[in-house]
Amino acid sequence: MSDIIQLLPDHVANQIAAGEVVQRPASVVKELLENAIDANATDIKLLIKEAGKLLIQVIDNGKGMSQTDARLSFERHATSKIKKAEDLFNLHTKGFRGEALASIAAIAHVELKTKQENTDLGTSIKIEGSSLVSQETIATTTGTSIAVKNLFYNIPARRNFLKSNTIETRHIVNEFQRVALAHPTISFSFYHNESEIYNLVSSNLRQRIVAILGKKTNEKLVPINEVTDVVEINGFVTKPEFAKKKRGEQFFFVNNRFIKNAYLNHAVTSAFEKLLSGGYYPTYFLFLTVPTKSIDINIHPTKTEIKFDDEKTLYAILRSTIKHSLGQYNVAPVLDFER
Ligand code: ADP
Ligand code: MG
Repeated sequence: MSDIIQLLPDHVANQIAAGEVVQRPASVVKELLENAIDANATDIKLLIKEAGKLLIQVIDNGKGMSQTDARLSFERHATSKIKKAEDLFNLHTKGFRGEALASIAAIAHVELKTKQENTDLGTSIKIEGSSLVSQETIATTTGTSIAVKNLFYNIPARRNFLKSNTIETRHIVNEFQRVALAHPTISFSFYHNESEIYNLVSSNLRQRIVAILGKKTNEKLVPINEVTDVVEINGFVTKPEFAKKKRGEQFFFVNNRFIKNAYLNHAVTSAFEKLLSGGYYPTYFLFLTVPTKSIDINIHPTKTEIKFDDEKTLYAILRSTIKHSLGQYNVAPVLDFER
């Protein structure tokens, strides 16, 4: 008999985790933007080159990291956001898995610059494929900049699997929009190959929606506001006559986190009932606030799916709230309308 099991070295474990967390450049964008938000940034810049294949950089004015934390942040399961298992059911941050930076650094060239307030000097760290290349003390502004270069440079199969620049950019824009919609008071800018894609000033939700989807959206919005014992619902749906033939402008946020949920989506579309003709989808921006202990976010590494305690009740409340709000806006049933 011989023993054959061994523990994988960290860099191999990181690369395996990266396979789940980082599907494409847009996944890196999501993780870096969420870290900037968790650091209480009020101004966030996103720079990409070649659809993120060459460069993804996020610069924030958040609280920054100490020298020790800067190095630790790239270790797996290293997080400042939870301490014990119970914290998983009382989450107030986007992150908690402590996996993103370790995963990203396993499959790219990463340069971090960070400085905390009330310190003169900051830290610069370079990591390539989980190995530390350099760590220096530098002069820099308060906040954090993380540049991720040459994503998947050491996983050719993944790199070759990436789609065209147009498609990868589309995914990045989608992630950016979701985060920017969830945080209208934060100002965001976004540049691709040095040209400006978005420049969003601090505002409220309505203004943010208009800044992202265009001026014409303003007149189309029906406000939704409801408070019950189990959920608070806020946001907007668009009037039925502005429904579109394409999916993709349906935004659900639960406790300010973008999620996908076919069941709740059905609650919204069914509230429109006869107001929509076949094949048309309403645009909506709905924010559900529920007690943190009534949801489980930890069912998928990318955290876009969550489990609710009582999805059926949410469905019913959502549907009736939207029906009621649409009714108040006095929209007469239209079965077939010109567009
Ligand atoms: P998580 O966000 O799940 O904690 P990450 O791997 O994304 O895990 O980040 C690890 C840690 O690094 C975070 O918990 C945080 O303390 C620190 N960190 C990452 N990004 C930033 C940032 N932009 N500003 C300040 N601290 C950061
Ligand atoms: Mg994170």
